[in-house]
Amino acid sequence: MSLKGKSAIVTGSTSGIGKAIAEGLARAGANVMINGFGPMMEIEQDRAKLEAETGVRVLYNGADMTKPAEIEAMVEEAASEFGSVDILVNNAGIQFVGPVDEFPLEKWDAIIAINMSSNFHTIRAALPLMKQQGWGRIINVASAHGLRASPYKSAYVTAKHGVLGLTKTVALEVAQQNITCNAICPGYVKTPLVEGQIPDQAKAHNMSEEDVVKNVMLTPQPTRKFVEVEEIAETALFLCSDGAQSITGTEISVDGGWVAK
Ligand code: NAD
Repeated sequence: MSLKGKSAIVTGSTSGIGKAIAEGLARAGANVMINGFGPMMEIEQDRAKLEAETGVRVLYNGADMTKPAEIEAMVEEAASEFGSVDILVNNAGIQFVGPVDEFPLEKWDAIIAINMSSNFHTIRAALPLMKQQGWGRIINVASAHGLRASPYKSAYVTAKHGVLGLTKTVALEVAQQNITCNAICPGYVKTPLVEGQIPDQAKAHNMSEEDVVKNVMLTPQPTRKFVEVEEIAETALFLCSDGAQSITGTEISVDGGWVAK
């Protein structure tokens, strides 16, 4: 599949799933704006490497997904540098694990802002450009937790359920304009986000880190193995293809069978 001539923004693409999606889109020929936090030297090295390897333009914008003005400026920069924003992947996300009655307020606010509200802000800014050009693909990286709950993840589960609501609403609003809006719902993927929560889950469940991986994380996943980041990237690429033009307002689960139960 070729995305030559198209341009994409992938939020939270300095790590994990977002990084794999940005790499996949660039390899398919799209210019890509990467975004997210991390050591600046590493981000610049990765950016330059991807650009050299693929021959497309790869830009970095460090917009903080809790700040609507920075999000708007990022979309404007992509539009002016690339000439269009054809593909928007809302992927940035954080996690915090703790009982609801002890959940820190600032963690709740940050998770709702980054994991859910940022999707509204990017879509709001990019949609007029997609409407103008009569083509667009919006992909929201939600989660199996957009469809199912787990204890101790109140903010995350709430945000991801919200993302699915936004996905359907946007899809309906632009259904006749050649713009699709879908969500990908991964199960557990071994990324820094998951690695970081293993000690917290161990504390919340009062068990060892090894038992958390075996008995908490991989239990809901019938395949009993982590999903790979490349599998999520392949799904995102499929959603950008012509073969997926009638797929809109829905979610694709890539979760080893989790929500089949
Ligand atoms: P990750 O921690 O590897 O990457 C998260 C990215 O988001 C990083 O680039 C980080 O810098 C960026 N980010 C965090 N806060 C930000 C902010 N305020 N502004 C801009 N960027 C910010 O995590 P991941 O596992 O690759 O997760 C990516 C997405 O996939 C998230 O939305 C997550 O909820 C979702 N997801 C992950 C899993 C999993 O098992 N890893 C499962 C289901 C869904």
